Amino acid sequence: MLGKEELIISRETIAWSDIPAQIQLFEEALIQTRREIIELQKKISTDMGQQEAQIFDAHLLVLEDRMLIEEVISRLKKEQLNVAYIFSEVLKKYISVFLKIEDEYLKERIADISDVGKRILRNLLGKKRKGLDDLEGRAIIVAHDISPSDTAAMHSKNVAAFVTDIGGKTSHTAIMAKSLEIPAVVGLEGVTSRVNPGDVLIVDGSTGIVIVDPDKETLNNYQKKLEKLKGITDKFLSVKDLATVTTDGRIVLINANIEFPDEVPSVKLHGGHGIGLYRTEFFYMNRQDSPTEEEHYQAYKYVAEEMSPHSVVVRTLDIGGDKFLSQFKIPHEMQPFLGWRAIRFCLARPDIFKLQLRAILRASVHGNLKLMYPMISGVEELRQANQLLEEAKKELKRSGQKFNDKIEVGVMVEVPSAAMTADILAKEADFFSIGTNDLIQYSLAVDRSNEKVAYLYDPAHPAVLRLVKNIIDAAHQAKIKVAMCGEMAGEPSLALILLGLGLDEFSLPPQVIPELKYIIRAIGFKAAQEIALQALKLSTGKEVDEFSQKKLAEILK
Ligand code: PEP
Ligand code: MG
Repeated sequence: MLGKEELIISRETIAWSDIPAQIQLFEEALIQTRREIIELQKKISTDMGQQEAQIFDAHLLVLEDRMLIEEVISRLKKEQLNVAYIFSEVLKKYISVFLKIEDEYLKERIADISDVGKRILRNLLGKKRKGLDDLEGRAIIVAHDISPSDTAAMHSKNVAAFVTDIGGKTSHTAIMAKSLEIPAVVGLEGVTSRVNPGDVLIVDGSTGIVIVDPDKETLNNYQKKLEKLKGITDKFLSVKDLATVTTDGRIVLINANIEFPDEVPSVKLHGGHGIGLYRTEFFYMNRQDSPTEEEHYQAYKYVAEEMSPHSVVVRTLDIGGDKFLSQFKIPHEMQPFLGWRAIRFCLARPDIFKLQLRAILRASVHGNLKLMYPMISGVEELRQANQLLEEAKKELKRSGQKFNDKIEVGVMVEVPSAAMTADILAKEADFFSIGTNDLIQYSLAVDRSNEKVAYLYDPAHPAVLRLVKNIIDAAHQAKIKVAMCGEMAGEPSLALILLGLGLDEFSLPPQVIPELKYIIRAIGFKAAQEIALQALKLSTGKEVDEFSQKKLAEILK
């Protein structure tokens, strides 16, 4: 068990003549910390890839923070106290300032600051790091919080799972756990005070349940559940390379959602047809500058070539909401999800937008690349975005650069006003992709990142089903294809309804692809249409859920 790390820091008065030595001690601790982080970064880069290693860029930036360094030195001179004490005080002040900022993304960065801060303190105190290295045998980690660097180090350790008191969905820790496929339950308040070293734990990452000292029967049940899960996974994986076709011959496409180009091998491994959503905002994270046109181009070219001849849908920058990018200095907003985000930001910053559009256009000659705008709320925004796309094309023509002039341009339908005017949008779009993560939060008025109202966030709600039906019908009326790239597309039981409503393409995290393929291959389109029809007659999300679960069980038995 990793408790809150105890570093005992005494408050000592120092002589004026000791100040230079204390400053030197501080500088040496910074240099040593930098060395440690670079070493760790190299190791992670070799073992896991560059993308994961980039997380430590944020740590290195903390070390270069002039304000922090200067404040320590000036207080040291003024207060004449030992540097470890001064530094811990400055660190506390920094963390409390960040805690007051009402921005989830910035709050998550507290983990970076405190992680580096602890390293510096350890070096100031000359202490050896205690933690994962001391693990004996295979273990479950229970900690108040786990830093991104600890999470990254877990892949080479015998870590079976981890549980934390605090943490959020957008933290680097959660991102890392997902990519390492380590079962994890974060934000389980008070867990460290209820678990003792040596306790036997069951960590069910799929439900967020942690059971302390389970009785024999519970342990047996979970053991069986685990074995069953393994059997099911093998069964699903057996169809991963087959076409997604229903028993009566309707073909749909199952594509993948990715955030980083290095996820492409995982897409192929899980039998993804193409990429239905390439979220590009992660490209801008953990750095102070913005990616250049060339960097964008190289990334899109790589993904396009790797997936060719299958399609890759690049979504243009979707920042704002819970995705904060420090380099753009977006002012704090009361309602960030309703604020200056995604296409609204891009239309106001044509410099940033057109740079990305030019890169997508240039990369379009290397494969089957499509582009898609997020958060379109009405046809005017689509026209304005297309106007800038035309300008980007002209700029490329002027400089003699090649691109696919007929690149398909899609609209993400994720705002209720777009869903309700889908017939108007469909006349001017090449395809639709339904973004249910946002569509649900906007149509049910439920903040998607607020755990207190999570019980209201319901993809099976009749309002959601009706909106989805309206979008699919409007798209088909205008003879364009419609995909779904929100998490709802990966819900096994709802897949039957979506298939029956006529959805053409599903886009999901790579790991879920085989299961969905298996389900769709097990049912006829006519039967799915009947299921959708019946589901639309139900009054509540709970009824829809129970009904679709029952149908799924019948199909899979
Ligand atoms: C969505 O809103 O459904 C979606 C896929 O986009 P994001 O989750 O990035 O907002
Ligand atoms: Mg969205």
